[in-house]
Amino acid sequence: MDRRDFLKTLGLSAVACGMFRTAARARSHKPNILYIMADDHAAHAIGAYGGRLAKLDPTPTLDKLAREGMILDNCLCANAICTPSRVTILTGQYSHINGITGLGGNVPGEQQYLPLLMRDAGYQTAVVGKWHIGTQPEAFDYYNVLHSQGKYHNPEMQERKTPQGREVTTPTEGYCSDIITDISLDWLENRDKSKPFFLMHHFKAPHKPWDNAERYNDLWEDIDIPEPPSLWDNENNGSIATRGHNDELIGIIGKSVSPRHHSGYSLRYHKDGLSAEEATRESYQRYLKKYLRCVRGIDDNVKRLLEYLKAEGQLDNTLIAYSSDQGMMLGEHDYVDKRWMYEESIKMPLIVRYPRSIKPGSRSDALISNTDFAPTLLDFAGMATPDYMQGRSFRTIAETGREPKNWRQSSYYRYWVHMPPDGQPAHFGIRTKNYKLIFFYGAPMEPGKQFRTPPGWELYDMQNDPHEMNNLYGDPEYKTLAAKLKKELLRLREEVKDSDADRPHIQAVIDKFWDGGEEEAIRISHELAAKGHTPPSRSKEPKAK
Ligand code: CA
Repeated sequence: MDRRDFLKTLGLSAVACGMFRTAARARSHKPNILYIMADDHAAHAIGAYGGRLAKLDPTPTLDKLAREGMILDNCLCANAICTPSRVTILTGQYSHINGITGLGGNVPGEQQYLPLLMRDAGYQTAVVGKWHIGTQPEAFDYYNVLHSQGKYHNPEMQERKTPQGREVTTPTEGYCSDIITDISLDWLENRDKSKPFFLMHHFKAPHKPWDNAERYNDLWEDIDIPEPPSLWDNENNGSIATRGHNDELIGIIGKSVSPRHHSGYSLRYHKDGLSAEEATRESYQRYLKKYLRCVRGIDDNVKRLLEYLKAEGQLDNTLIAYSSDQGMMLGEHDYVDKRWMYEESIKMPLIVRYPRSIKPGSRSDALISNTDFAPTLLDFAGMATPDYMQGRSFRTIAETGREPKNWRQSSYYRYWVHMPPDGQPAHFGIRTKNYKLIFFYGAPMEPGKQFRTPPGWELYDMQNDPHEMNNLYGDPEYKTLAAKLKKELLRLREEVKDSDADRPHIQAVIDKFWDGGEEEAIRISHELAAKGHTPPSRSKEPKAK
């Protein structure tokens, strides 16, 4: 090598080294992390996600956040219900691995992996707002949380200032979303500013009973909220599992907007003496207005958080993520509540903003799972994903818009709780970018604890039928596809280590109805229709005004 070549190589190496150092600095830089989560905030109730509610402008701040960051269009919850989703976010594990399949159960401090690892990464950690897990957030440096569901007005807050400190319960005055934000702002102001922060800011809103801040009492009052067409005509959505044979179970299964239920699972936000159509219309309007007013109360509080960070010069130095523990049925298919594998319920909104590496105005349709949240946040904090987490960091997707090699092309879902408290049968299934296959096995976790509902399958073409109005299962043209998806579903169950081997009564249902059993399903449907079903006593919804 002559001198000129040597200098050239040296020069290139120096450039390469310089680039490496810059990249390494960017990778080793620890941004603050503000993780904001709502409760039951459906993606289609955020303007930036589009849809029929976008024209009402429910979320001006979140829309701006989306314009300055990335929208994830296919973020799917692995089990669309509050506590299990929250525990999956903390552990990076599916419900059957972390042990929290329903609303009960404890997660001891040593299992609250995300805040523990953030502390190891040098972060000051806090959680404020709704927690809704049996064990308190012991693994955080600071917490100030609602007890269980908490109240919308004048909630009591449970605070622990240091890991060695004692928990103190304090009454408050005001509206829940405002109070939670006041607490977060106070913590941010008084934190140890020599360390980066990791703050989980969890709103209670817009969970039922949908009490809004008084300042929004009249918002959208004189406007008719657009209805989903499936409120009136559900076409070929559903199956024997969700509607019964010849619709004989629509008064028993699934919480509804319309007063169709004889089992008490209807919203009933209407005055007495109305026709079914009038009652449905009135309940829907009242439900959506209450819900969206709670959403607006989140949006204006997110604005306060962002304005504070901006004034502090920390806005662009903070990775901000906005999500919800799962979605919500807002009258689609005449349903209220979540839990379903249907799109409005399974989809979590997810917006991420970090202008140092995430391109403003970007969007991705990669299949993201809530098992990925902890690995991703840890990745931004400079921590590798521990092997006990089942999710994977989507940092590359957020930063480049491209899916890394071997990124998942199918997502596993399972809703474990059968029927009570809101009338959804147990089911599992698979979602790809193009299709969704659901198997309602309709049996409780423990045999004999609840009655069975008829097992059945549903298959939807997500590209051509995004509102899931035509169940293609059983259509001869889709037989090969259904078989292929079933095979992939079995592979996924193995991959995520879900098995019913220790629940022989469920495994027997899977074996019997995997490819047949239609006559038996009709018999179960008839039996249930004849017997009826009374849900257990539960907290009352507010009465219609
Ligand atoms: Ca929830």
